[in-house]
Amino acid sequence: MPAPAPDLRPAPDHHSALAPHPDDGAHDGPRIIDAPDIARRVRDENAQRVISRLARNGHEAYLVGGCVRDLLVGRRPKDYDVATSATPRQVRRLFPRNSHIIGRRFRLVHVHYGHESIIETATFRSEPQAREDNDEDLLIVEDNVFGTAAEDARRRDFTVNGLFLDPNSERIIDFVGGLEDLDSRLLRTIGAPLVRMQEDPVRILRAIKFATRLDFHIEDATWDAMCATAPDLARSAPPRVLEEILRLLRSGTALGAFRKLRRCGALQPILPDLDAHLGPLDHADDAQRERAEEFDRLLEALDSDVHTGYEPTTPVCLALLYHGIVERDATERGLEDSMADYAQLTGEHIDALCEQTRLSRRHSGRTRRILVQQGTFLRGSSRHFRPRLFCLSEDFPEALELFRLRAAAQGRGWDIYEGWAERYREALAMPAEEIEAERRRGRRRGRRRRRPRKS
Ligand code: ATP
Ligand code: MG
Repeated sequence: MPAPAPDLRPAPDHHSALAPHPDDGAHDGPRIIDAPDIARRVRDENAQRVISRLARNGHEAYLVGGCVRDLLVGRRPKDYDVATSATPRQVRRLFPRNSHIIGRRFRLVHVHYGHESIIETATFRSEPQAREDNDEDLLIVEDNVFGTAAEDARRRDFTVNGLFLDPNSERIIDFVGGLEDLDSRLLRTIGAPLVRMQEDPVRILRAIKFATRLDFHIEDATWDAMCATAPDLARSAPPRVLEEILRLLRSGTALGAFRKLRRCGALQPILPDLDAHLGPLDHADDAQRERAEEFDRLLEALDSDVHTGYEPTTPVCLALLYHGIVERDATERGLEDSMADYAQLTGEHIDALCEQTRLSRRHSGRTRRILVQQGTFLRGSSRHFRPRLFCLSEDFPEALELFRLRAAAQGRGWDIYEGWAERYREALAMPAEEIEAERRRGRRRGRRRRRPRKS
């Protein structure tokens, strides 16, 4: 039987953003506050339209999750998600021309407005079912059991992500203590931390993402549970883990995030090569400490570029993680002077990464080439090398981005970077015939070189 809907009687005349509602604290139900200022910050008319149509047709519907959190801390939400009591089929029927149902593990409806805007509309879920064949194993495999608004709030990951906003009545409904934690800048799981982390260890990475992005403190019991369950990350779906690693790298707070990853033991199960390369945080040997410092400087350079609007691609992110490892291995095996050996070695490392993360072939090929091309930037002018054609090769822009980050991190090689950036601009301005002529010259040289010598 559905639980009663939260009390949404008309608001009295409170106008402060977080003014307490008269019902607040009077019973064990949700905390409901009038938040007209927050509701006015909602900038997405389409999300409001979806909510209004659902409400007019007798369903409960709210903005939920990241957008409510971001509005409350004064950040601009990336997107607006809706949660509703309507089932996916009911939502589909209300938006017959512009919606479709997606997902299997988590079924929801995408309501489309034009090409740009998609409002993700999910039916309230109750506690997810754990795997049936093993009661001890809490890993969630399916999450399609519908429930009430309160249940939906409680199955979410962190209290600050469990808030509901009704833009029509301009109220925030808090079933999980998220408002208080937002006020104290505290990241805390909803419910028992150990259980919530065991259910889905990817929440460890999410906790680190939110804490560093929002500059929130991770509550002690949540942190302890993260440390205890970090090894379980090895069992999480590799594409989800990879997605979160990429988000951390693109967050503008990658340095802090990777320090936290190492501190709670989460780097080892997800990127064991990198973890071994950097060594333990507290008792690393000198070589490891030096490598860790180098890696930190690289992340620092990345963060500073991200703050100016740079968005690293997936291959650049991965090449950045693997660059130090490949270089070290090449030096140890004495392969750094042979392009072919270096390429082979890089391939071995990236193949291992692919196996671990199920990275697509397209991305792995680009990652490998970006790494191998780092040596080309330093190569002197050889007779056969055609720098302008190199500049026009497909992976050049990404390879140059990594080179720039390395130069910024190391505090040397910036002049070489600028030289290549200039050559790149020239190459882009080259007329098509000139490019073709240069390609022909390159091909002729190649043929001549291949011709067998007369004895
Ligand atoms: P972002 O700004 O990075 O998108 P977000 O909070 O919106 O942050 P999403 O991954 O978009 O994060 O998820 C939307 C909401 O879904 C979250 O706020 C949270 O309430 C819920 N959620 C997402 N992933 C999980 C998870 N693994 N376990 C429980 N709840 C989750
Ligand atoms: Mg989101």
